[in-house]
Amino acid sequence: MDLINVELISNTPLYNSIIGARTCWKSFNKDDYQTEENIGENNKKLLERLVYQYHHESVIEHTVYTFKLQKFSRFILQELARHRIASFSVESTRYVIKKDIINFQKIFENYNNITYTEKYNTVKHFCVIPYISSYVPEDIHLQFDILHKIYLKVKAEIPNDEIKYILPENWRVNNMLFTINARSLRNLLKLRTSKSAHFEFRYLATLMLRVLPKEHRILYKDIEDQIVQDLNLENTDDIYKLSNMEILKRILGSKFAGGMNV
Ligand SMILES: Cc1cc2nc3c(=O)[nH]c(=O)nc-3n(C[C@H](O)[C@H](O)[C@H](O)COP(=O)(O)OP(=O)(O)OC[C@H]3O[C@@H](n4cnc5c(N)ncnc54)[C@H](O)[C@@H]3O)c2cc1C
Repeated sequence: MDLINVELISNTPLYNSIIGARTCWKSFNKDDYQTEENIGENNKKLLERLVYQYHHESVIEHTVYTFKLQKFSRFILQELARHRIASFSVESTRYVIKKDIINFQKIFENYNNITYTEKYNTVKHFCVIPYISSYVPEDIHLQFDILHKIYLKVKAEIPNDEIKYILPENWRVNNMLFTINARSLRNLLKLRTSKSAHFEFRYLATLMLRVLPKEHRILYKDIEDQIVQDLNLENTDDIYKLSNMEILKRILGSKFAGGMNV
């Protein structure tokens, strides 16, 4: 799971949401905005009242984020795609199976002589290894065998659209562009950082929160509080200071088993 990566490509200013709110209430005389890093005390209080007291969240739809999400499982893609108020562009397996698998030709041709480490690294390239204790070495052998089958089909020039039927659910999504507004992101983060969400989605959602601009955190304070409690952190700063692996360990709890242990 350590290859999963989240980057914030761009975002529209928090000020868009402030303008939205001040338009509704005709209160531009109270606008004390200086810069994105210093939006002003009046504006801070305004945003807090809107989000946490009045739930007048339509104004924060004016703030929009575009993320690059990489190397997570296709079954998480299926869950992510249930969030309808967002835009998606996903690298298609149709175009990449062949190109990717052929790079590992030497490994697959040497099927009978390769080491466990080579198998592990090959599986890790194509599939998400979950770092949980129930995922055991036999699972690596099994998944490697599926990859080998895929290789044989590629070699036999079977089209990608037909090979897709034997891809495992933890096949990696290499690249995805994901655009979502702050209101919808709040909904996503609330649902998917929660203890009842799948642990891989919890990890992905927590990484999304971590890459937001610091000044935008004012919109996500309730979600931060919940994460601090659930992950047993000292304070909010820990959400942003801890390494990705430490966050993952805390999400997995007693299920955690490190990388090469499996
Ligand atoms: C722990 C967990 C378990 C889940 N289990 C299942 C499961 O077993 N089976 C399953 O099918 N799904 C499951 N889901 C997915 C869930 O039902 C939602 O599809 C998903 O979380 C997206 O949430 P959303 O609809 O709020 O988000 P979005 O689609 O982004 O919608 C955002 C908000 O817009 C509003 N909205 C959007 N569309 C409509 C509409 N048509 N009518 C009225 N209001 C609308 C709602 O207020 C909604 O909250 C699960 C989700 C979680 C977090």
